Formats: sequence, structure tokens, C-alpha cells
Amino acid sequence: MRTKFAIIFMVLIVALGVCVYLSKRSRKAIGTSIALLTGSLIMPLIGNLIIISSGSEFYPTIGYYVYFLGMDFVVFALLRFTFDYCFLKWPSTKLKKLIYGLLGLDVIQYALNPFFGHAFSTEPLLVNGFPYYRLVPYWGQAFHRILDYGILAASILIFGLKTFRSSRINSERYSIIFTSLVFLTIWQTFFIFSRTPVDRSMTGFGVIGIVVFYFAIYYRPMRLLDQMLAGIASDMSEALYFFDASGQCIWANAPALKLTGLDERTLEQTDAKLTELFGNYDQGGIEWSSRQVIGSGEAAQYYHLEKHGVNDANGKMAGSLLSIRDNTEEQKQFQRELYNSTHDPLTGLYTKEFLYQKIRELLLTHSEMQHVIVFVDVKNFKIVNDVFGNDFGDYALQCIADWIQRGLSENCVCGRLAGDTFGVCLPIDEFDPHRIEHSLSNFEVTNGNLSHHVLIHLGVYVVTEKNLDVSVMFDRAHLALTSIKDDYQKHIAYYDDAMRSKVLWDQKISSQLRDAIATKQLQPFLQPIVDPAGKIIGAEALARWIHPDYGFLAPDSFIPVFEKNGMISEIDKYMWRCACELLARWKERPLFLSVNISPRDFYFMDVPSELKSLVAEYGIDPARLRIEITETVMMTEVEKRMEIFHDLKRAGFIVEMDDFGSGYSSLNMLKDMPVDILKIDMNFLSKSQNEYKAKTIVQNIIHLAEALGIESLTEGVETPAQYHALSDMGCKLFQGYYFAKPMPVEEFEKYAFQKQLT
Ligand code: C2E
Ligand code: CA
Ligand code: CA
Repeated sequence: MRTKFAIIFMVLIVALGVCVYLSKRSRKAIGTSIALLTGSLIMPLIGNLIIISSGSEFYPTIGYYVYFLGMDFVVFALLRFTFDYCFLKWPSTKLKKLIYGLLGLDVIQYALNPFFGHAFSTEPLLVNGFPYYRLVPYWGQAFHRILDYGILAASILIFGLKTFRSSRINSERYSIIFTSLVFLTIWQTFFIFSRTPVDRSMTGFGVIGIVVFYFAIYYRPMRLLDQMLAGIASDMSEALYFFDASGQCIWANAPALKLTGLDERTLEQTDAKLTELFGNYDQGGIEWSSRQVIGSGEAAQYYHLEKHGVNDANGKMAGSLLSIRDNTEEQKQFQRELYNSTHDPLTGLYTKEFLYQKIRELLLTHSEMQHVIVFVDVKNFKIVNDVFGNDFGDYALQCIADWIQRGLSENCVCGRLAGDTFGVCLPIDEFDPHRIEHSLSNFEVTNGNLSHHVLIHLGVYVVTEKNLDVSVMFDRAHLALTSIKDDYQKHIAYYDDAMRSKVLWDQKISSQLRDAIATKQLQPFLQPIVDPAGKIIGAEALARWIHPDYGFLAPDSFIPVFEKNGMISEIDKYMWRCACELLARWKERPLFLSVNISPRDFYFMDVPSELKSLVAEYGIDPARLRIEITETVMMTEVEKRMEIFHDLKRAGFIVEMDDFGSGYSSLNMLKDMPVDILKIDMNFLSKSQNEYKAKTIVQNIIHLAEALGIESLTEGVETPAQYHALSDMGCKLFQGYYFAKPMPVEEFEKYAFQKQLT
């Protein structure tokens, strides 16, 4: 028996040694405590090994010392482990010092035992003919036992409290150590009272060391994990179904059971129920996800299904997990946001971008049909807002949106392009211009006692080039729309290729203007101005473009384009400079030159300072540079413009009112306008049926001008009869084909200088 226990003790010593080594290597925070505890347990085992191994008295006595001192070390290590494992702090450092002090005292009293014999002695005992030295305890030993058992009891108490106070799954962590310690204590007590020669409870020391080591270092609380995972799965709002390898549902959480209307006992019907709900929902394979909708419209329920395969450690399919998420709210929110981002909040129509997209789709899906793109524009909408207020304006837009939508079939789409413009795309057979003209001819918006006639214009592009970008189609429709002037009779205009050619032409010449000026393709042509005696006294400088590709271009083909895009100021500045250059060249000749000023020039430059610096640069008398303005200049910013002309006059320039009579001339304006010369437009007379009336008007204009101290110049004189008649009426200056057409500078110089001589 002795040998048997000796072997057991040795095995345990080695095992504990391994535990010490592994604990030290472990990266866990508790590793050191465990190493200390398992290491400390080796000492009592060695002590007992010595006790039972020798027949003489000396070695067992040494063994007892090793044993008891080892026990002190064990309880010290146990205490440390208990505190670390249970995450406790010493209630007070005094208590800690007291206990460690008592343990120190115990060591000292054992050290004094050889001298005083107060702790223990040994007595021989023959067992199976072999002498054992059994312990004979005295009060010193009692002190040791009380101290060690006290500490052991405290540890057991701590573990006991932890076991019973922790949640059920967590208590497992403590209960195993608690049970082991209780078991060990009982076993030890039994040994003490049994007084058997071999301390069998020592095996318990070894075992508890290994148990503690395992639980603290390696043990993973699988049950705890299982329960936690199950808890999480149960609490999830998603429906979760766990299937085994054969596809049988083995577990489902509460939302999952609710969805299928099953319970734990009827789980095997899961697949059938899911098929009932979602149809053939299983996408096949181990991993898939899909979206499913139950019901439609407002009552529609949206689900996201996701399946994952679960493999065991060997990579074999062990089962699968199906999760079903009800994302109805998300979907509805998404749809609401989508609606808001694609619909205009005021009218409920599509936004521009979404309309373009819808039109693209429409043209693709119905490519066999011919469509029209309609650009709807509310004229002078700003006035509606200004006069009637924004609320009425908003209401008007809603009415227009309603009107647009009215009667549109599902083959049509419409939207709001911007503030007061709308876009429609519809099959050409559904576009009824007569009906539209009729309803637009008296389109009235009435809100309460407010009522307003709204003028709506439609630009129409018949989609002949289906591959065009939708925005280009609308550009074309818009282009057609701009061809409708403020017309109350005509509300619809169609885009045609001439419009397109015009746009292309405009773009082309606009891009070439700078180059044309730099290379002198642009030239001044001069048209003589004569006095009543037919003598050339000056000329009007008129722009001509000698284009390398298109040849001779008259101003009609380019001036209006540049008037529109503002580039006219470049031409004018260039023409003024040319005129100044000529005047400088003709220093010795009493000739003047008239130059044209576009109303647009005033937006792009400081006209007076430009002209002043030019005459200064060329050193010419400003009176020789006559300035032709049209009455449209005075349509806006009257005061400011008036001041500009006063300024020019003060600087010595002669100001002429061009095309007088062709526009909305107001005779009244003459009173305030600082003009020196009135250029009467013959064009408005030539068209007149009633020559007598025309004559009377011209005569009166000339007389009126004369009375105001303004000289008259008639332009467009084509016949000698006109010339003589005008001469008789008192007109002082003449310009027209009768005298000469506009001509190149050299030609003019030859012509005029020669005439001047004669
Ligand atoms: P405008 O200033 O009224 O110029 C007079 C126009 O009448 C010139 O046309 C001239 O050729 C034409 N004309 C002269 N005598 C007769 C005649 O007896 N019968 C007829 N039927 N026409 C006559 P043009 O040169 O084609 O110029 C057209 C318009 O282009 C000008 O009208 C002017 O408004 C504008 N324009 C020409 N050059 C310039 C320029 O350098 N700057 C600006 N801003 N406008 C210019
Ligand atoms: Ca002119
Ligand atoms: Ca004119």
C-alpha cells in the first residue's frame, strides 16, 4: 500500500509540475495565481511522500515539517487564487497583514519546534510489519490547523457565496471549485480524525490542483455559451430557424414561431408553412438570400430571407440557419424617400431627373411609337407671384400641373422641369393641338375671388432622333418655344430642322468671332451720307464679315446672333476703333463717321469712357465720330441712360437717334433725349399703302425735330422722287441706295474724295 501511494503521490507531483509550467505559459491574467497554487500543492505531497517512504524517525519528521510548511504555503496560495478568481479585493489591508502575519508566525513556530517540541512529535506505529511515524499533535499543531482550516473555510465560504449568488449559468464557474474544496476538507478532516498512517487526502490535493488548473485555464463554459447564444437568438427580432443536416427544423426562436404559427412540438411543419407563406422560397444551395413580398399595395409585407450552411469541425455539413427579417418599415420608408426624391412636393409631378429617366424608359419600351416632347412654359410667371402673392402662384402651378395631367394615358409621362416649366412626353396620336390651343386660349386660374389669365406656351419636338439625350430633346422643344413671341393667339410651336441649323449656325459663328476680328474678316463698309446738295459729308460704318467659308455675310446673319449672346460689344468696339482709325487718316478732310451702338453694349462696358479713350488715343475731334443709338436703349434704366448721353454730348460727341419711327417711338422722348440728329427710318414708310399719310407723318416729324433744334436724316432713300420730296420737307441729311450702297473703305475713299473735289 505504501508503494502504491508513493507512486500515486509521485504521479501527482509530476502532474502538478506540468500544471505549474502550463499555467505560467498561459497568457491569462490568473495564470500566476494558478501556478502558485498548483506549485504549492507539490510541497505537502513531497512531505507525505517522505513520511511514508522511510522507516526511520528522522525522515518522517522532516516530511512533517515539509508537509506543514507546505500547507501554510498552500493556504497562502489558495487565498490569493480565491481573491483573483472571484475578482475580490481585500476588505482591508490590516486584515491581509494579519493573516499573512499569522502564516509567518506559524512558520516560525514550526522552526522552533525542534527546540521546544510544542507543535508535534512522532510516534512509531507498525502497519503490516512496517514502521510508520504517526503524528502526535500539541498546541502548536492546533494553532496551525486552526489557522489553515480557518483560511480554507474562508475560501470555501467565498466560493460558496459566489456559487449561490451568481446566476445559474455563471455559478458553474464557482460551484466546481467550491465542491472540490468541500470534498477535500471533509476528506482531510476524516484523515485527521481517523489517524490512519497514510494521508490519503493528499491525493485530493493533487486532484484539486489539477481541477483548479483545468477550470481556470482551459475550461470554456460551453453551457454558458450555449445559453447565452440561445438567449441572443431568442431575443433577436429576426425570425431564426435552425435545420439539421436532413433539413428538419430543430429550433426556432419566438418571432420565427410566430411567423409560421407553430410551436416547439410542431416544428417539423416549418418548411411546409414557409412554403405556404412565401411560395417556393428555397433558392437551393447552402448559402442564399432573397427578398419576398406578401400581399400588395399598402398592406404589402416585405421580408429578407437569408440562409447559411453550418459545417462541423471536419467541414461536413451539419445543418443550416434560415433568418427572415421583416423589413416592411424599412421598405416603406425607402419608398417614401424614393417618392420624395423623385416627385415635386408642390405639384406631385416627377422631378426633372426622374422625368428624364421615365422618358428614356418610355421611348425604349415603346420604340415602335412616334412620340412628342413638350416643353410647357408659363409666361411672365414672376408677375403672377409678384401681383397675386406666392400662395396664388403655387396654386396656379398646381392648376397647370392638373391641366397637364388631365387626360394623359399611361403611355405618357410628365414632370416639373423647373419653377414654371413642365415637360411631357406622349405618343404623337395622343397630342391634340386643337384641343390644347382651345383650352389654352382662355386658361384662367381662379382661387376665391382672385382670378388670373395665365399665358402658357408649348414648345414641341417630334422625336425623330430617338437616340438623342432627353435633355437635348427638351432643348429642341424649348427652342421651338422661344420662337413664340408674346403671342396671345398662338400657344404651340414646333421644332424644325431650320431651328436646329440656326442654332448650329449661331454656335459656329460665335466660336469664330474673335478670330474673325483678329484676321480682319470683319470689316467696316461705309455708306455715304449726303447733304441736300448731294455732297458727301460723312458715312455710316456698317459691319461686314468676309467669311473664308461662307463668303460675304451681311449683318442680318450675324448681328442678331451676337445681340442675343452679348458678343455684339466685341464687334462694336472693333468697329469704333476702325472708324477712329479712318478719321485719323482723314485728318484733312471734313468727313464724319457714324457708328452703331447696340443696347446690349451698355451691359458689357462703360460706353462713354470707351469712346472717350478711343478719340483721345487717335487724337480726333469727338464731333467727327457720330453715335447712333436706337430708341430701345431707352426702354430700361431711362435715367441712367439719359445721363450717359448727356455725358457723351458734354464730351463733344454727336448723338443720333437711329431707326426713328420703326419701333415704339415716343415723340415725347425727344423732349428729354439729348439727341442731335434724328435718323428717320424710311422702311416704315415704304410699306405704307397710303403715301399721302406717310408723307404727312415724315413732314411733321421733320418739323417737330426742327422745332426742337434737332436735325433730321432720312435713311433708306432709294429714288430721286423721295430725295426731292424729303428735301422739300426740310430734311437736311440723306442716306440710301439712291446715293450709294455701303462699300468697302478704299472704294468709299475713291468715291467720296473724288466727289468732294467736284
Ligand atoms: P441700320 O443701323 O439701320 O443701318 C442701315 C441699314 O440700312 C444698313 O443695312 C444699310 O445697308 C441699309 N440701307 C441703307 N440704305 C438703304 C436703302 O436705300 N434701302 C434699303 N432697303 N436699305 C438701305 P445693313 O448694313 O444690312 O445693317 C443692318 C443693321 O445691322 C443696321 O441697321 C444695324 O442695326 C446693324 N448693324 C450693322 N453694323 C453694325 C455694327 O457695327 N454694330 C451694331 N451694333 N449694329 C450694326
Ligand atoms: Ca445705324
Ligand atoms: Ca437705321
